[in-house]
Formats: sequence, C-alpha cells, structure tokens
Amino acid sequence: MGPVTLKGKTAVVTGGSRGIGLAIARGMLDAGARVMIASRSQDSVDAAVAKLGAGASGFAADVSKESDIAALAEAAIGELGAVDILVNNAGINPYYKRTEHTELAEWQHIIDVNLTGVFLCTRAIGQGMLERGKGAIVNITSVAAHQGLTRGAAYCAAKAGVEAMSKSLTQDWAARGVRVNNVAPGYVKTDLTAGLAANDALRGEIEDRTPMTRLATAEEMAGAVVFLASDAASYVSGATIAVDGGRIAT
Ligand code: NDP
Repeated sequence: MGPVTLKGKTAVVTGGSRGIGLAIARGMLDAGARVMIASRSQDSVDAAVAKLGAGASGFAADVSKESDIAALAEAAIGELGAVDILVNNAGINPYYKRTEHTELAEWQHIIDVNLTGVFLCTRAIGQGMLERGKGAIVNITSVAAHQGLTRGAAYCAAKAGVEAMSKSLTQDWAARGVRVNNVAPGYVKTDLTAGLAANDALRGEIEDRTPMTRLATAEEMAGAVVFLASDAASYVSGATIAVDGGRIAT
C-alpha cells in the first residue's frame, strides 16, 4: 500500500477560506502538502492563509469566471511549481425555494458555481496534470447527489452532475495518470448550514435521518480527501466516499 501522506505534493483547494475547504487545507498541510487556497474575497484568502501558516498560500478567484480560473492556474504554477492535487470544494446553496418559485437566474447561479466551476477548475488545472502524467482531483459533492433535498433542485442537479462528470473524466483521464474522485459530505456545521443548524425543528429532522444522530464537523471531511489525494488511493478513480454519518445508507 502507498502511504497515506501528501509529503512533497502540492494542492489547490477552492473555497479554502472557511468551512470545509479550510479544514481540508489544514488536513493537507498536516499530511505534508503545500497548499494554495482560493476564494472570491482577497481579505478572506489573506486571513485564512495567515491562520493556516507555513506551507499555505492563496489567490482570489471566482470559480465561475473563466478568466479568474486561468489566472488561478497560472498563479498556482508560479507558487507551487506544478499542481499534484486539485480539490474542487467551492460551493453555494443560497436559495431555499421550490422549483415553481425559482428564477432562471437563481438556477443558473447555482449551476455556474457548483457545476461549471468544477469544469473550469478541472480543465485549467487538469491540463498540467495530463502533461505530467499524474494528478488527483477530489470533488466535494454532497448527499444531495444521492437523495432529493427539498427546495434544492438546482443544488441536487449540480452535485449529481459533478459525480457524473467524475465518472466521465475517469474514462478520459485515468489511463493518462489523473484520478478523479468525490467526497460526499452529509450535513456539516459551517456558514452554509448555520441557518439550518440554528433551527431546532430542521436540525432535529436532520439528526433523526442521520444514523450517527448528529451533524459533522468540517474537520471530519479532511481524512477522506487526504486519502483520495494520496498514493494510497492509486487504483481509485470515479469513486465517491460518503462522509455522511451513514445518511445515504438509510
Ligand atoms: P461555506 O459557505 O462555509 O464556504 C464556502 C467557501 O467557498 C468559502 O471559502 C467561499 O469563500 C467559497 N466560495 C463561494 N463561492 C465561490 C466562488 N464562486 N468562487 C470561489 N470560491 C467561492 O461552505 P461549506 O464549507 O459548508 O461547503 C463547502 C462545500 O461542501 C460546498 O461545495 C458545499 O456544497 C459542500 N457541502 C457542504 C455541506 C454542509 O453541510 N456544509 C454538505 C454537503 C456538501 P468566498 O465567499 O470568499 O468566495
């Protein structure tokens, strides 16, 4: 077995300024990687890099903007030399509406960030991986790719789309040395779910439907990502690890 270590490797983590992305960046640094985080706000990027400390760097980029992602890919090569690992973590879920009340612009916003953003980052950073014949991409999807969430059609469609994209990329890239996998979190305590977690009725419903009867911490997402990014997962591509307290099993 290859070791579960990222010693000597380099990584880009999108949405790394807080929540799950920040915890993943910290886990990767602890596992020995050098990590560049990206998110839209320069101030949040700078604050997160300061928190992460040695081995961390950052770049402000919006994953839904092609020109930002071209600049991110260039900055990553400038800072890290080459990128071994890409974690497509940036994601949003800003609307809580049934489809009949959803504006096209709202649908498009979620698809642009959660689905097209993954395509743009994968294409831009995957290029260098293909040229070097090695790389690992880990997409942060969701239980929403497997179970219908109420008032979340665009979010579910985008996350299921990313998992389908990973299978297709595996057909295209696995023989060329680039592995593409997913980690599907259950409910995790972050800014994204703050409203939900603060609502006793909604939180209770989630706890009831989760065999482990609790929400996760962001730190609990890092282990599966580090494993999939490491050489210990050298024969794994197109797979999804659910880190969901058993929710998809119900
Ligand atoms: P948070 O809202 O806590 O953090 C989101 C991160 O993404 C921030 O760093 C934010 O920074 C960044 N971001 C948002 N939009 C963009 C964009 N357009 N371009 C670049 N960066 C962006 O979310 P979580 O940590 O909770 O979620 C992380 C991922 O995990 C998402 O993909 C989410 O869908 C997924 N997930 C989360 C679950 C949960 O329960 N929390 C459950 C299942 C999946 P900034 O605002 O500065 O851009």
